[in-house]
Amino acid sequence: MNVTTRLAQIAKQLPDKEAYVFMKERCTYQQLDEAISRFADGLARLGVRRGDHIALLLGNSPQFVIGLYGALRLGATVIPINPIYTPEEISYILHNGDVKAVIGLDLLAPLFVEAKKRLPLLEHAIVCETPEGKEKGVSLSEGMKSFAEVLADGSPDFTGPELGDDDVAVILYTSGTTGKPKGAMLTHKNIYSNAQDTADYLGINENDRVIAALPMFHVFCLTVALNAPLMNGGTVLIMPKFSPAKLFQLAREEKATIFAGVPTMYNFLYQYEGGSADDLRTLRLCISGGASMPVALLENFEKKFNVIISEGYGLSEASPVTCFNPLDRPRKPGSIGTNIKNVENKVVNEYGEEVPVGEVGELVVRGPNVMKGYYKMPEETSAALRDGWLHTGDLARMDEDGYFYIVDRKKEMIIVGGYNVYPREVEEVLYSHPDVVEAAVIGVPDPDYGEAVRAYVVAKNPELTEAELIAYCRERLAKYKVPSAIDFLDELPKNATGKILRRALKERLASSHA
Ligand code: AMP
Repeated sequence: MNVTTRLAQIAKQLPDKEAYVFMKERCTYQQLDEAISRFADGLARLGVRRGDHIALLLGNSPQFVIGLYGALRLGATVIPINPIYTPEEISYILHNGDVKAVIGLDLLAPLFVEAKKRLPLLEHAIVCETPEGKEKGVSLSEGMKSFAEVLADGSPDFTGPELGDDDVAVILYTSGTTGKPKGAMLTHKNIYSNAQDTADYLGINENDRVIAALPMFHVFCLTVALNAPLMNGGTVLIMPKFSPAKLFQLAREEKATIFAGVPTMYNFLYQYEGGSADDLRTLRLCISGGASMPVALLENFEKKFNVIISEGYGLSEASPVTCFNPLDRPRKPGSIGTNIKNVENKVVNEYGEEVPVGEVGELVVRGPNVMKGYYKMPEETSAALRDGWLHTGDLARMDEDGYFYIVDRKKEMIIVGGYNVYPREVEEVLYSHPDVVEAAVIGVPDPDYGEAVRAYVVAKNPELTEAELIAYCRERLAKYKVPSAIDFLDELPKNATGKILRRALKERLASSHA
């Protein structure tokens, strides 16, 4: 079984069930399955073959869904890329990923023309027309096809080749905290098993209507808000772009049952004054992941909107989910929960030995969800996959009930005069202050202590002062953990998924000193 055969199966069982809703346009499983076959066949007629690499540069849209599953049904490997990456970032991935065909927004057509000149492997460009592209008068160059044409050229009866479990389904470029992006190769077995194991653990079923507001090119959305509901007959409510007002409206009008988001989205929803518990009354579950969920935010959100948040954890290399807070046992705020089905997590020391309960070490993961390796990077692969365990680079501890707690990323730990400070611990305290909207903590060079703790805060109340907030931290943290300086900003830098970028704050500080 793989994601596209499963989709075909559901289309037979539930042909008229809504597979997705996009801006009020409704698509049934049967219609979706036919479109996937048409697109797969259209690609085959262009000359795309099983095993070829296809880059997908699209926002959240029906074309993303059809393009993804169509390419997979053909046996091609999909490389999803954030369409708003810079031309350099996109070109790097097209080159490193040996891409043969691109499917992207028409606005990217000029970039594709240039890339085709430089990359001999890149043969085909398929573009999706957008209102912005039309406005700017973007025209298709020679050799380019429109998405609609490829779809029209294909047959709905196309079934595709039989795929192997170990065939690479997607390559996800992930940079972690530093270094050049690496392509994590996820097989059909990886993505199917993780979607199904996550769905089973969270009880995602055909009655669920899941809001897909996270970017689909990110693995969190791909598995939790796309594959998991679609493998189980649920409905995906596609949001082209996240905004609190639109989300409350969509949840209410479409009777959403599940929302998956990163903590910054929960924060935006919580702070937004136009949303109420009534808007979210049909939601049975909110899912948080991608970054640590501040405990104060989780508790405030649950209280204000009368819905539970289950926090989980994952990374691209694990397709991504490894842990979630369970729904049939207590949830523990601040923790990422317990092993999902079929996946094992453990905390190890530098020799790979499991540490005692409560002790901090590196989180390692084993299961059918763990990647095959990084594309064309054998050294990085053997550093990440050791003795059958994926080394996550995240520090964690486990409690006596088997719940895991992410302490922080290994690389982001701050050492103040020999003492370890985990930015997350300081951020938790800052978030608990009623006038703090967002907070991020980094280490900065210090002549006396090696490093010092510096905080960046977005404040609700403009009268909040640095001295007041430092005093607040002093009451709640050991002296060496208290920020030596706090800067107030209008907003914190975030990536496309909405994760706060501590790295960007470090760069900003370094350039202000240069
Ligand atoms: P990505 O590969 O882009 O999905 O990023 C994976 C990284 O996100 C992990 O290695 C963690 O550092 C971080 N992450 C994901 N979920 C959580 C969580 N619940 N708490 C803390 N960090 C998280």
